[in-house]
Parts: sequence; structure tokens; C-alpha cells
Amino acid sequence: MTNDPNRGVQYTLVVIKPDGLKKSLTGNILTKLAEARLHIVGTKVLRVTRELAEAHYQHLKDKPFFKDLVDYIQGKPYGKEYERVMAIVYEGPGAIQRVRQIAGATNPEEADPVSVRGAYGRITTKGVFENVIHASSDPTDAEREIKLWFQPHELIGEIYPTKKVQQPAQEITAWA
Ligand code: UDP
Ligand code: MG
Repeated sequence: MTNDPNRGVQYTLVVIKPDGLKKSLTGNILTKLAEARLHIVGTKVLRVTRELAEAHYQHLKDKPFFKDLVDYIQGKPYGKEYERVMAIVYEGPGAIQRVRQIAGATNPEEADPVSVRGAYGRITTKGVFENVIHASSDPTDAEREIKLWFQPHELIGEIYPTKKVQQPAQEITAWA
């Protein structure tokens, strides 16, 4: 066994937050992330529910900025058309650290100016770090977050163990 976190395949969750979409940075961010030489194993655009936002940021629930943070990841400050994010799962050696490096430090004022957060982030008047992207910080967080944001069938390959469960008959929306 090795303790080197850069050895072996890792998975990491990236979320392009609503400010990233509003500032039309999606292409730019994906291009920068391509430098990490990783593979995309899943992606989708979605509206973040309050439940998802609160579960994703559960480690910050006692912080004074928690409510504003939940509003931020849901896109509430930007208007209905920006109440969406793009979530991506990357796979590859050292994926977590490589993506964090490109993302930059949490506080955009302290982040490397060439990083995504350093180049495009800002601190709002409410004091929230509007830092354009989320990136998982360690393997435990990555697994928790990926399982929160994606179902097994939405990813290429069985990246974590799965099980078969019976679903009660339910109505779904199909193309008319
Ligand atoms: N955040 C903030 N103020 C803080 C710390 C965090 O606004 O003092 C926001 C910021 O958007 C950050 C998110 O909360 O990206 C999650 O915080 P975390 O400490 O997990 O930082 P990250 O892993 O995103 O770098
Ligand atoms: Mg974090």
C-alpha cells in the first residue's frame, strides 16, 4: 500500500457553479481542466434543490454564511435562468489534487491568479466566496459527493460498488 495520494486512479466531482454559467465560463473552465489529463465519466446540467445544496455543504451548516452559500449554489442571486449548475465527474491518477490545483484556493483573493478561482472568483458584499467551481477535496469527500450528485447509471463504469433494488412502479415522463 502507498500513502501517496497521487498514485492510483481517483474520482473527483467538479461543479461549475451558477456564477460560472452566468459569466459564460463553461468552455474556459473545461479547457483549463483538460490540462489535468483526466477522463470525464459523467456530466449533467441540473437545478440544485435545497436538499442537495444542504447535504453537499453539510460540513458548513454551523457557519454564519450557510444560508447565503445554499442560495448561491442554487443560483438564487442570479435569476431563474441561472438556477443551474454543470456537474462533472473526472477519473484519473491524482485527479483530486490535480483538479484542486487548477481550481485554486477557496478564497478567490488568496487563490493563484492563474487558477479558475483566482482569475474569475470574487467575494460578494454578503461575504460569500463566489468562486466559480467546486472541486472535491479528498477521496472520502469525493465518494460522498459523487454518490450524492449522480446515480450509478449516469456514470461510465461501476466506479463504486452497486446493488440491485426493486423500485415500486412509478410514472415517468417520456417523449410524446
Ligand atoms: N465559503 C465561503 N466562505 C468561507 C468558506 C467557504 O463563502 O469562509 C464557500 C465557498 O464558496 C466554498 C464553499 O463555501 O467554495 C465550500 O467551502 P469549503 O471550505 O469546502 O471550500 P472548498 O472545498 O470549496 O475550497
Ligand atoms: Mg470543500
